[in-house]
Parts: sequence; structure tokens; C-alpha cells
Amino acid sequence: MNNASLAQRSLRHVWHPCTQMKLHETQPPLPIARAEGVWLYDLEGGRYLDGISSWWVNLFGHGHPHIKAALKDQLDRLDHIMLAGFTHSPVVELSERLGALTGLGHAFYGSDGASATEIALKMSAHYWRNTGRPEKCRFIGLAGGYHGETVGALAVTDIALFREAYAPLVRLAATVPSPDARLAMPGESAADAARRAAGGLKDWLEQHHRQTAVLIVEPMVQCAAGMAIHDSAYLREARALCDRYEVHLIADEIATGFGRTGTMFAHQQAGIRPDFICLSKGLTGGTLALSAVLTTDTVYDAFYNDEVARGFLHSHSYTGNPLACRAALATLELFEQTDALRRNAELAQTLDRAFAPLARHPSVRHARRLGMIWAWDIDEGFDGRPPQAGFAGRYARHALAHGVLLRPIGNTLYAMPPYVLDAQTAAHLASGALAALNATLADAGRTHG
Ligand SMILES: *Cc1c(COP(=O)(O)O)cnc(C)c1O
Repeated sequence: MNNASLAQRSLRHVWHPCTQMKLHETQPPLPIARAEGVWLYDLEGGRYLDGISSWWVNLFGHGHPHIKAALKDQLDRLDHIMLAGFTHSPVVELSERLGALTGLGHAFYGSDGASATEIALKMSAHYWRNTGRPEKCRFIGLAGGYHGETVGALAVTDIALFREAYAPLVRLAATVPSPDARLAMPGESAADAARRAAGGLKDWLEQHHRQTAVLIVEPMVQCAAGMAIHDSAYLREARALCDRYEVHLIADEIATGFGRTGTMFAHQQAGIRPDFICLSKGLTGGTLALSAVLTTDTVYDAFYNDEVARGFLHSHSYTGNPLACRAALATLELFEQTDALRRNAELAQTLDRAFAPLARHPSVRHARRLGMIWAWDIDEGFDGRPPQAGFAGRYARHALAHGVLLRPIGNTLYAMPPYVLDAQTAAHLASGALAALNATLADAGRTHG
């Protein structure tokens, strides 16, 4: 079996996500046979540095021996048991640990990120209903926000390409301005831009707080909007406004959680506590689908009642799956065993140095980093000619040819690598990203200097 023949079978039988399948006529999917550490291997021995942590889920590299051992042990004990009416130690231990890490509790489990979004939104609206204020049932999200793509989650996902076809099905949330630091006006700092965006939230809440249940945010970085980083001032102002107007605050930490932004959770950089936190992606170290929502005692207590219908009756078949919970426990153990947050701070310095030539490149704008996320926008029109459509996509394909997996979002390229790079693989990532940019420019007949 070679790459081309497996790709062909895939195109006949698999409907790939986030993909216009017709584009695969010219760009077939790349079959991956195995992965180890930061490396992905195709069927023909080609290898690629996983610069995006397999769509932001992997933390400690592929096939980590500690996570593998935990999964094998769990498989010999208990594969699955429904969590309604039953419990098991992996889910209990994981919930205790997530509670200690977040300062929230009452962990409720789903499978994917989008189901966590739905759970948090439903819990908030149901809380207001249980407390005698059923009119508080509207949601607020940020411009460019991304919280998943099921029909409920699309209500708060402000990305036209993902939402437009389903607009008639979706009960749209209100959209308030994004605090994206790139939107700072001349003379404005990132914190000024954040406070100006918070002013937009305040205006909306002043008018509509009586009907509003909850504001959902991606703290510190709106990843799917193109790694739009904002100042923590936004989160402090949003917390204060939500308190003043009696509106819940959801921190969607599905992408930003588990050290990705430098702290264990991104909202901790603002010193605030949300009413709900959504977790997924890195939760299992990138091995199995699992998501969780944690909340406050106040919210939990509003559901605790003799009346069944006042309970939170939501469920998924695989809620709290023991294997996934064991993988999550092993992942949390790795944070302690490897002192991951401190090591990442050092690794980030190494990568900053490696990325410096790319950040200075004349076609690069807004080179930025938060924690273990690097992003840069492409403006290849430096020679006075307008940028070409699809440049970022061609850039990502050149990167793959240089042995580095990067992904484009609009005009943005980003790297979100696993936490286990060493000096050599860090250099490979950065030099591949730079070489691919120059190769893409050369293809387009745009060389500089
Ligand atoms: C990926 C993501 C989701 C959706 O998670 P899925 O597992 O893809 O459903 C929700 N919110 C944020 C911030 C995400 O990055």
C-alpha cells in the first residue's frame, strides 16, 4: 500500500471534515501510518514534524509511553460503563483533579468540544429558568468566535464560512466586538483595544441584560479567528460586567487549556474565575475524544431538587468513558512529572530565537506568540503588488514538502507544536516555516532583497 492508493480509497469512502472534497482532485489527503513524539510518518517513509499538535489536541507528543501504559492498564480493567447510575475511579479522580486545578467543580462530561459548548449554554439557560428568570435565555459571543459546529454551538460561532449555509437552523447569539490586539488603532495599546471592545459589551448588556443568560469567550486567544491574541484586560472587564448585569461567563478553554497559552488555563492570566469552563482537545493528551464542563456550586445547587425536570438531564452514551478519563489522568500526571509549564517557558525562548528570521521577513506582519502558540500574517504584496488568493494554503503545502505540518487560517499561518520539541526539532520547525515561505514567494514570482 502506498500513499496514493490509500488516498484514493479514502476519497471513495470517507467524507473528510472541514474540506471541500472536490479540492482533493488536485491535493489528495496525506495518509499517515504511524506517529511518534513530534513526528508523523506516511506510508512511504516520509516524515513530517507535527507543528499543529494534530489539530491542537496533542500535548506531550504522539504515543507517549506514560499515556499508552495507562490506557493498556485501563483496557484490562474496565472499557466502558454508563455514567448514569454508575461511577468508576478514573472519572472520580479526574473530576477531583480538574476541580483542584480550576477552582470549579461538578464536572459534567461530553465527547467533543462542541458538546461541551452545548452543555455549558444549556446549563446556563436552565439555571436561569430554575431560578425563576426563564426570559434570560439569549447568548452573547465575540466577533470571530469559534465554539464548535453542531447546530447549538453554531449560535455562538461567528465564522461565516461555517455558519452561513445553516443560518435558518441556528438561533443566532448577539455578537460583540473582538478584543483582538491587531485591531488596535494608531496610538492604542493592546490593553486599550481590549477595553474599547469591552465598551461594546457594556453597551449591549446595558440594553439587553434582562434577556441574556451568558457570554462565551475564548480567553486570551481566539484561535480559529487566526490566533487573535488579546490583552487580559478584556477578561477582567468582561467578568466585572457579567457580575454587574447578572450574566454568566463561560471560558471556552477547549483550545487554550492545559498550558497552551503559558498558564494551565488561559483565563488565569486575568486573575478571574468564570462561571463555566469548557475543556476538551488536550484533555486526553490527544489520544481519545473527551470533553468536560465544570461550574460553580451556585449553578449546581439550582438544579439540586426533588423535581426530576429541574435536574440537568443531558447525556451522551460515552459520557465519562473510563479509557478517556485514564488518558486524561495520565496527561495531568505528565504536567507534574515533567514540570511542563516551566519547561515550556524555556522551550518558548528557544523557539522565539529560531523563529526570529521569519518574524523579520518582509512578507510577515503581526508576528506574535502567546505561550506555545506562534502566528504570523502573510502580506506578500511587499513589492507593491496586491496579495494573491490562496497564498497561505500554498504556503502550508510548501511547508509539508519541507517536512513541517503547518495550517493556514485566512492570511495567517500558525505553529502550535507539542511540548516535547528539542533544540533540533525546534530549529527544523522554524527553518521549515521560513524556507516554505520563500519557496511560495518564489513560485509566485515574488522574491525580495
Ligand atoms: C476546537 C474547538 C471547539 C470544538 O471542539 P470539537 O472537539 O472540534 O467539537 C470549541 N471551542 C474551541 C475554542 C475550539 O478551539
